[in-house]
Amino acid sequence: MDKYLLSILVCPLCKGSLVYHKPAQELICRFDRLAYPIRDQIPIMFEAEARTISLEEYDQLS
Ligand SMILES: [Zn+2]
Repeated sequence: MDKYLLSILVCPLCKGSLVYHKPAQELICRFDRLAYPIRDQIPIMFEAEARTISLEEYDQLS
């Protein structure tokens, strides 16, 4: 995941910054508790493609 790309990406819903979760290849919005998938190095920044992360997963994010 390109660091520059990551730095300019924001959540399409709240416009907040995202956390890159490397093992899962997801970009996570803590505010909305949504995880956006990264497929073939391309972040899929659509709410319809995102999954809601559980509280358990949320707690594991640093
Ligand atoms: Zn958000």
